[in-house]
Amino acid sequence: MTAAPAPDQLAADRPVLTGGCLCGAVRYRVSGPMSREGAGYCHCRMCQRSTGAPVVAWASFPAEAFAFTAGDPVAYRSSAEAIRRFCGCCGTQLTFAYLEGPPFLDIAIATLDDPRAVPPQFHLWTASRIPWLKLGDDLPAFDGHGADFRPTGGMAAGPQSSSANAPLLPGTDPD
Ligand SMILES: [Zn+2]
Ligand SMILES: [Zn+2]
Repeated sequence: MTAAPAPDQLAADRPVLTGGCLCGAVRYRVSGPMSREGAGYCHCRMCQRSTGAPVVAWASFPAEAFAFTAGDPVAYRSSAEAIRRFCGCCGTQLTFAYLEGPPFLDIAIATLDDPRAVPPQFHLWTASRIPWLKLGDDLPAFDGHGADFRPTGGMAAGPQSSSANAPLLPGTDPD
């Protein structure tokens, strides 16, 4: 009779990242690998407003790989399509998730205990990049959603088609 691997043993096969908010009340853990969406900078106005920062670096993981381990984050439905979770005490925004569609969840990379572990690979929504923020890197940059973005329902939208077809003002997104 062979026993199934314990959950801890399974987790040991995948890198585990931990993080949390500024005050320490909310903590999380996520096990790799990232989802296909990967890690990138978002320059959309909603990310700027919701963090007070000129740009937010996000990393996408399968939702089932993520768990809050301490505290009870506040959920803010920032649009009809998405929820952002943040610490109700210190205000740190921790996660972004679409309500429908692929079960992925974005983590604000800077809230990781070791943010150096997940370097961003692209820029999104540069149509609303704040001009005084100079990028100075060679990463791919998209006016709107990147090439891999799949809206709820699974449609594919490339960088050209998304900026040409999206019924949105420049610099806005449905998040
Ligand atoms: Zn906090
Ligand atoms: Zn954004």
